[in-house]
Amino acid sequence: MSRGLGRVQRAVLAYVRSEPGGRSTIDGTPLAASITGLARVVYGVEQPTDAQRAAVRRAVRRLEAGGHVEVQRRPVGRTYTQQRAHPRFWPPRYDRRLAVCTGKDGCPGCTAGDRPSMYFDADIMAMFIEHYGTLAEADRQLWRATAHGWHLYPVPLPRPADDYRTCEVEITELCVRRALTDKERAEAEQRAQQFIRPYVAAMLAMLRRR
Ligand SMILES: [Zn+2]
Repeated sequence: MSRGLGRVQRAVLAYVRSEPGGRSTIDGTPLAASITGLARVVYGVEQPTDAQRAAVRRAVRRLEAGGHVEVQRRPVGRTYTQQRAHPRFWPPRYDRRLAVCTGKDGCPGCTAGDRPSMYFDADIMAMFIEHYGTLAEADRQLWRATAHGWHLYPVPLPRPADDYRTCEVEITELCVRRALTDKERAEAEQRAQQFIRPYVAAMLAMLRRR
């Protein structure tokens, strides 16, 4: 099955098949390895060169085309600052902010004219998880929100002081894991559902008690 693959491709495939990152505690699937991590292993160096990373990236793309691996672009938890030009005239831009209602005078959501919502279901929970980044923090915020509700309200983004703005750009990297079988995929889906079920059930039970 690995015949016809180049040296770098074989090394990458062997490494990702060893599931070096272990498995997700949520759905049980292998965690993905980053291109930099793969290049370290394939070339046995601490700081891979750009050429080494590029060779690994090419090998990964070929393995992906052959159905051997799955590839995703993921944030790696680092950012860099970039200055970007922007058009001289630009329309006001808005961001949507999710916030727990404080129930007090001066609650930013209430001040923005948004009525707090007491609506909770699996979709709302998914929105909290996406917004707060982790299940633990989303859960904490959801419980806080049961007191006075939550807001989703538009906030105008600040206009830059001059013709340039400084952005924090999140660094992403290609991340790779071995291809899953259809059976593994179905099992992962089931495990993820089971994982989230108690949280949704707890929310619904609490709402019924109110
Ligand atoms: Zn409020």
